[in-house]
Amino acid sequence: MLPVVALVGRPNVGKSTLFNRLTRTRDALVADYPGLTRDRQYGQASVEEHPFIVIDTGGIHGNEEGIDALMAEQSLMAVEEADAVLFLVDARAGLTSADEAIADYLRKQDKKVFLVANKIDGIDADSAIAEFFSLGLGDTVHQIAAAHGRGVTQLLTLALSPH
Ligand code: GDP
Ligand code: MG
Repeated sequence: MLPVVALVGRPNVGKSTLFNRLTRTRDALVADYPGLTRDRQYGQASVEEHPFIVIDTGGIHGNEEGIDALMAEQSLMAVEEADAVLFLVDARAGLTSADEAIADYLRKQDKKVFLVANKIDGIDADSAIAEFFSLGLGDTVHQIAAAHGRGVTQLLTLALSPH
């Protein structure tokens, strides 16, 4: 069995962009329309010759109804399937109540969770990420720019390492 990495977070934080970079496909829908990827999407990827499965998800708002509830359910199932969870937040948009709702959920799970601030390209990353420490998911906010690949190999190497 290959290790499984789930990408979760509210819509528009860059999950599909990261999925595409990892799997080198355009299969995941990347769009400026939040929440377009309705279902879980599986891909195979590898980092430094270590293969793994990555799951893209549609996203969680935190107070779901209708189609959004199904989307959120898919995200929770992805978390259950995962060995490591990458919880993406948007360093440009800042902390939102949806981020807090997702963090509350993830803190209760017995999973390896990595808090990942995406879109750090062209901004003062250290000050942008400061507010995310309040999510209570450990003392590291991993910084990446999924669109450019910055920080991605480092992050996945860490996420896939046994400790
Ligand atoms: P998802 O809803 O979480 O899957 O988010 P998407 O991957 O669809 O990305 C949402 C938007 O953020 C798109 O317009 C992406 O081009 C943009 N985006 C994703 N990653 C980055 C990044 O590293 N830097 C910047 N500046 N924009 C990004
Ligand atoms: Mg998406």
